[in-house]
Amino acid sequence: MTKIEQLEPKEVFSYFETICGIPHGSYHEKALSDYCVQFAKEHGLQVMQDELYNVIIKKDATKGYEQEEPLIIQGHLDMVCEKKKEVEFDFETQGLRLETDGKQLFAVGTTLGGDDGIAIAYALAILASDTIRHPTLEVVFTVSEEVGMEGAAGIDLSACKGKRLLNIDSEEEGIMLSSCAGGVRTYSELPISRTKVEGDLIRLELNGLTGGHSGVEIHKWRANANVLMGRLLLSLNRKHAFLIAELRGGLKDNAIPRESYAEMIVSPDLTQRIVDQMNDLLTAYKNEYRISDPGMELGIRIEKDFKGEALDEASSRRVIGFLNSAPNGIQAMSMEIEGLVETSLNLGIMELKEGTMLFTYAIRSSKGSAKDALCDKMCMITELFEGSIRMSGNYPAWEFKKDSAFRDKMCRIYHEMYGVQPLVEAVHAGLECGLLSEKIEDLDCVSIGPNMSGIHTTEEKLDIASVKRVWEYILRLLETK
Ligand SMILES: [Zn+2]
Repeated sequence: MTKIEQLEPKEVFSYFETICGIPHGSYHEKALSDYCVQFAKEHGLQVMQDELYNVIIKKDATKGYEQEEPLIIQGHLDMVCEKKKEVEFDFETQGLRLETDGKQLFAVGTTLGGDDGIAIAYALAILASDTIRHPTLEVVFTVSEEVGMEGAAGIDLSACKGKRLLNIDSEEEGIMLSSCAGGVRTYSELPISRTKVEGDLIRLELNGLTGGHSGVEIHKWRANANVLMGRLLLSLNRKHAFLIAELRGGLKDNAIPRESYAEMIVSPDLTQRIVDQMNDLLTAYKNEYRISDPGMELGIRIEKDFKGEALDEASSRRVIGFLNSAPNGIQAMSMEIEGLVETSLNLGIMELKEGTMLFTYAIRSSKGSAKDALCDKMCMITELFEGSIRMSGNYPAWEFKKDSAFRDKMCRIYHEMYGVQPLVEAVHAGLECGLLSEKIEDLDCVSIGPNMSGIHTTEEKLDIASVKRVWEYILRLLETK
């Protein structure tokens, strides 16, 4: 087994290992932020830490580079904390257990936080070096990127002189990411009332769906378990009367839900007919989604002579009506960049609460006006069903710059080093570049990163050879005038 200490570039992996030893999940970045401040002081560098624990470190240009434009290097301090069910692990107190096969680096039983620890490791290795040649550097580390970009939203960049920003928060080498979607979470709440009921209780569990990321995988047209459950309930309700006793599904607004659960109360003489219809519907759905969701299953269990509470008829109809009226999935494709989703939304979570039914959506668009229009539409539909809507985590799109001197330089260097042109791409997901661009006029940004797979999951892996190539590329970028 290869040891971490043997991995090249040594300085980068050594900082990466240190970072992994300091707990740094979202909202728990203080220790890592303090470490970066301490690091800067030890290296005699100017450093600023704000009350959110964002950090800015400055390093003067090396000899001969004093006249060059300053460069901002940016990454986020926090990581997504996921662990395997069977693994005992406390993200607030324990360091990650790193393992490598010489090709990939990963953490045993948990996420690795290569997203975005590798950016911090690169930056610290550059700041610590006295041999790398570079212009004035302004290194920006933000907090809480993974939970709504609160650090980037709150940071004061007035101390930065740079107009060029290298964001290291992408996961595919050879891609110069140059635009991303903006987003917002919406919470539609419908009023519900309950009533006493008696009858057969049918428990419905829709599961085995493929799921995925609501931004970068929305174009795969996978079934959304919440939406499909809504559709099933509507089809049943067109023929039979029943009341909803429970309805829930999904864990995160930005994940396409893989499972959804419902309970319905039916009159005993209808039970068999309803179950037969459910099975017919399942056959149709399985056929419809046989490419995207081959594992789809519907579990049906019946409890006879149930006595308890359920939503009354008006509330049941309201919930089913909303679920089948609100849009979901891709709303528009870009007319500028082929294959790019421009506007979408995902019903990530639905939840029956005490007096309300809550539907949480992640809305995304690379056009601010299209995002606003979709929010307005969601307000309208929610109000039509007598509900109210809230929003949070609004962040702007990073719109594509037709002319970007920084991107041109980066592409030229890439071509010189590897003999091929890199891809200039846009992504239907959020990056902090949109928020940061609002803080520095005419900011010229590009986002890159080494190859990573399975980010935000326990299968997260960092490609070691790619880390080395991207390191060499960044060094060439720094020393090229
Ligand atoms: Zn990230």
